[in-house]
Amino acid sequence: MLKEWHHLPKGFEQSSAKTLLGLLGGSALIHLEGEKPERLFVSILLHGNEDSGLLAMQYLLQKYRSKKLPRALTLFVGNVLAAHKGLRRLPDQPDYNRCWLGSEEPECEETRMMQKVYERMEEERLFASVDLHNNTGLNPHYACINVLEQPFFQLATLFSRTVVYFTRPRGVQSQAFSQLCPAVTLECGRVGQQHGIQHAFEFLDACLHMDHIAQHDVAAHDMDLFHTVAQVKMAPQVAFSFSAADTAELHLSPQLDHLNFQELPAGSVFGQVSTELKQPLLAYDEKGNEISARYFKIENGQLKLKRAVMPSMLTLNEKVIRQDCFCYLMERLDYSTKG
Ligand SMILES: [Zn+2]
Repeated sequence: MLKEWHHLPKGFEQSSAKTLLGLLGGSALIHLEGEKPERLFVSILLHGNEDSGLLAMQYLLQKYRSKKLPRALTLFVGNVLAAHKGLRRLPDQPDYNRCWLGSEEPECEETRMMQKVYERMEEERLFASVDLHNNTGLNPHYACINVLEQPFFQLATLFSRTVVYFTRPRGVQSQAFSQLCPAVTLECGRVGQQHGIQHAFEFLDACLHMDHIAQHDVAAHDMDLFHTVAQVKMAPQVAFSFSAADTAELHLSPQLDHLNFQELPAGSVFGQVSTELKQPLLAYDEKGNEISARYFKIENGQLKLKRAVMPSMLTLNEKVIRQDCFCYLMERLDYSTKG
């Protein structure tokens, strides 16, 4: 299932996410040498339809086509099968960003493959780990971390002043690699946005050139740090729609994705409820406990926030809502750098 390469497969720089399957035959771990020996680990296409990471890597590889990379680099190309079909994952596959060390997925081919990648990289001197993603709503570019330490803040703020800390869901790449080196997940906006690709490219190029990751404190005014307090899922039987023309039990605001990364007051309205629905949105805390009643209430047929929070990953894509989740809720984290 996993192929290891010690050179760039011919044609990689010109390939699209859809044609990688023909080139690589499956998931691939590609090791490239560079001037500085501490290796940068980069993963792309853990979600097969999110190709900004691939395009950013291709820019980077083209830049160094005729010279040595400034730093050794290993690239993990994840869900090539789903990428071939333009999908996040295939219906019978687990999510490739939920299968890493600490995963709560049942053991399967994919969890064993991620274990192998991790063990393989554990043998290397790692500089940093970067996992590249896109999302579907109107979100700013931001970095996610799973450890509250200065080198993680330094790496994250190299990409964006907006930083999100989370410990759930489990089994994500950046959480696993946090055990080996400073690790980030980068959310590079929506698929197809050139500035997201350019931003990721510049970040990766900086990682290749940097001598070391600073250990000193990131100034409090240089970072907006949030932590995830809940993952919100649509209750499975609920018929929902973003169009008032449809018949549905829950009509969600068609501008809902404009609320991403806005600090919302209690009472903010998410949609209209037309039936006896009790709790259409299910919120889970970082330990997996259901805490819907803490964040949502229905009042006069309106679905409202019960307390002030900041949502992220709100999307109008119904498939993403069903397959992944409705949104995340965050609160500002006052992480005093004075300790
Ligand atoms: Zn993703």
